[in-house]
Amino acid sequence: MSATLIKGTEIREEILEEITAEVAEIKEKHGVVPGLVTILIGENPASMSYVTLKIKTAHRVGFTEVQDSQPVDISEEDLLALIDKYNNDESINGILVQLPLPKHIDEKKVLNAIDPDKDVDGFHPVNVGRLMIGGDEVKFPPCTPAGIQEMIVRAGVETSGAEVVVVGRSNIVGKPIANMMLQKGPGANSTVTIVHTRTKDLEGHCKGADILIVAAGVPGLVKPEWIKPGACVIDVGVNRVGEKISEKTGKKIAILKGDVDFDEAKEIAGYITPVPGGVGPMTITMLMKNTLKSLKLKLGIA
Ligand code: NAP
Repeated sequence: MSATLIKGTEIREEILEEITAEVAEIKEKHGVVPGLVTILIGENPASMSYVTLKIKTAHRVGFTEVQDSQPVDISEEDLLALIDKYNNDESINGILVQLPLPKHIDEKKVLNAIDPDKDVDGFHPVNVGRLMIGGDEVKFPPCTPAGIQEMIVRAGVETSGAEVVVVGRSNIVGKPIANMMLQKGPGANSTVTIVHTRTKDLEGHCKGADILIVAAGVPGLVKPEWIKPGACVIDVGVNRVGEKISEKTGKKIAILKGDVDFDEAKEIAGYITPVPGGVGPMTITMLMKNTLKSLKLKLGIA
């Protein structure tokens, strides 16, 4: 039997429609819309394409979007002053600094300078702490983990009491999603195990998972026989394994593969996310959700 596909592309559309409707309602009642600033330093092509997508999505849902592009040689001092300006700008609810930053700028210093109440990426230590405490303390869950949890919930997968195994312990995916799944509350209440390169029995842990979240960045790391029949498999990995010519545009595009052997895994799992089209589209979607929440918190309606 083939697994149910959890398609990020479809869930994205549902959530963006919900956000658009909410933005219109807030605009009518309160006369304001969420404001998001994206700060882009230099002209890194990958960063430029991410920022373009974020801007496009922000416009689609009715936000005010400020695009602030700065030269690659901007000083750290000037960048910190720019962040301070947006921290104090009443029309801005979310500040996003596109990473990576040029080498002469201390990334940590810059991210820590963002007002935690405008840190819609959820990377500021204050928001990491809030996430750890859980419940009402959580303001902005980091976007990729928030997208993963949303996919699991919207697919109707039971999380309460489920054995969740997270492969990977990065600060942007593994650690926060593990923390979110163990919290007391809906969409969580799971028993969580985190595995990594020093784990003795990776296969054994994976085999026990009702929900297997894989964020290692190693193509095909999780073998089909490691998957418990009927399990929910969330493949976060995005690995470039080659290039091909796009049928649509005729241009060269990357061939992407996840961390799980999809074709065989889908015959064993109960639910599975594809790569591409799975977790990927959820990250920007959740960034929009966090920016809307920032305005709602300010208005006291969150
Ligand atoms: P990362 O910082 O490189 O962390 C990878 C984690 O996986 C590390 O904790 C590492 O363990 C673990 N790992 C690597 N190889 C392993 C192995 N053979 N066995 C067990 N554990 C192993 O990566 P990341 O930033 O979390 O990203 C992970 C993947 O998700 C990447 O493919 C990335 O492109 C993708 N990603 C996708 C999205 C999205 O779709 N929106 C967002 C973020 C990331 P150690 O700690 O022991 O080294």
